[in-house]
Amino acid sequence: MCKHVLNAQVAIRSPCCKKWFDCAECHAEQESGHELLKALEMTFACKKCKKCFRKDAREFEEADEYCPHCDNHFVLEALVPKAALTVEAEDARVDSRMLRDDRVNPGVAGRKGARPTVFDPDFEADKLG
Ligand SMILES: [Zn+2]
Ligand SMILES: [Zn+2]
Ligand SMILES: [Zn+2]
Repeated sequence: MCKHVLNAQVAIRSPCCKKWFDCAECHAEQESGHELLKALEMTFACKKCKKCFRKDAREFEEADEYCPHCDNHFVLEALVPKAALTVEAEDARVDSRMLRDDRVNPGVAGRKGARPTVFDPDFEADKLG
């Protein structure tokens, strides 16, 4: 179960190690030895109907946000867990152990509103160097 995108509707098959992940961050945590290979065509598995399909990120249109098999709308605003530090508690400075939770999901605060999705607009930019 993915802890980064709580409402993940699809699993993504990584082009590099051919394993299924809910999001790029899961890959980063489980495959610390290498970076997630970015491919323009990705394989997905719908979590609702359990069927696989491929999508080309270069030609991604609104209609492509739906599973071709069951019309499950899988492109959602990612529901990310609230940062640990927003948990109601006594002053975090009093108990420094609380601050350690920050490393569990570094960068969440920094990409507020960003969708942790493989359809990163940087895909193209990366390819072009
Ligand atoms: Zn990999
Ligand atoms: Zn994840
Ligand atoms: Zn489906």
